[in-house]
Amino acid sequence: MTTTDHRTYRLGVLHGDGIGPEIVPSSVKIVDAAIAAAGVSPIEWRELPLGFSAIDEYGSHTPEITLKALDDLDGWLLGPHDSAAYPEPYKSQLNPSGTIRKQFGLYANIRPAKAFPGGNAVVDGTDLVIARENTEGFYADRNTYRGTGEMMPTADVAIMHGIITRAATERIAHSAFQLATRRRNKVTIVHKANVLKMTTGLFRDVCREVAEQYPQVEVDDFHIDAMTVHLVRRANDFDVIVTENMFGDILSDLAGEIAGSLGIAPSVNSSDTHAMAQASHGSAPDIAGRDVANPIAMNLSSAMLLDWLSGKHDDPRLADAARRIDAAVTETVVGGTRTRDLGGTASCSAFTDAVVAAIQAA
Ligand code: ATP
Repeated sequence: MTTTDHRTYRLGVLHGDGIGPEIVPSSVKIVDAAIAAAGVSPIEWRELPLGFSAIDEYGSHTPEITLKALDDLDGWLLGPHDSAAYPEPYKSQLNPSGTIRKQFGLYANIRPAKAFPGGNAVVDGTDLVIARENTEGFYADRNTYRGTGEMMPTADVAIMHGIITRAATERIAHSAFQLATRRRNKVTIVHKANVLKMTTGLFRDVCREVAEQYPQVEVDDFHIDAMTVHLVRRANDFDVIVTENMFGDILSDLAGEIAGSLGIAPSVNSSDTHAMAQASHGSAPDIAGRDVANPIAMNLSSAMLLDWLSGKHDDPRLADAARRIDAAVTETVVGGTRTRDLGGTASCSAFTDAVVAAIQAA
């Protein structure tokens, strides 16, 4: 018996906006099934307010009560938010995921793009991971202690600042290289050092320095604009891609779509002490409330969170639960149960039930 045998993990549930209240409960059901199959005590879930409903009830899209509670949990599932549709002043504030990432210093946003057989991939066999620096770079709203890092000195002039630091670049580079050693031993650094010479030049150079500590990993680097072309043309040549915040956000949407659909693109945001599962896509208000959203991205993000917790608590049963989710999702898609974005007709809830059944039958 190991010391973790009777441990009960406590996870937060933040439904968020748009399709969040559909894809997050789907993930809770699937995690419950996988945890039971792996012989782990049931998860203690804690629902917390976020987004539109939190604005109505607490006057904040990410209330203090949520932030305080998260600090006490083993991890959490964050649904998407439709912050562009929030009323002022909430719309102009740092958005919910930015607020949480900043509060907990979740510096590594790991975003895999993996094609499913028969899953509508633009490039069959795509299997890469983007390691996106999550705390600074060209998202100005992450770069200040207070305020958003953007300003308008006059009604017709807008200014923002970008920040790249050695410390933040070193830690995301280590995350990327460590990840590559567990995959195909290749890292591609993405920057724009021909134009943004000092900032993204520093990013590239620090990543190259860190690379020297991982001699078994092959390294190359590309400008962000060239990289979009390479991704479309030869996605299969890439393993781990490391880049700054905004480039990583944009590139991961492209990579998700190349792998089949934004609806299958998962991610985990982590520091050395906290982790949060979050689909790479947004709240998809255009399809919300109709039970047609693809829950795969959120399902696989939740599996990534279990995998991260497995490493943190040295509890291989959680990695086993994560593998069960991955396998059941793939089996369900390959078996022909697919949501609309993957060319199928299954509803979000029917897809979820099929994945739960696959976990229970395995
Ligand atoms: P954000 O800025 O919050 O990331 P966005 O503007 O990138 O949001 P999304 O909400 O991600 O936009 O939606 C982009 C498109 O992808 C929409 O047409 C949406 O319906 C579709 N989409 C996103 N997520 C899913 C999903 N889980 N299932 C099906 N379609 C999705």
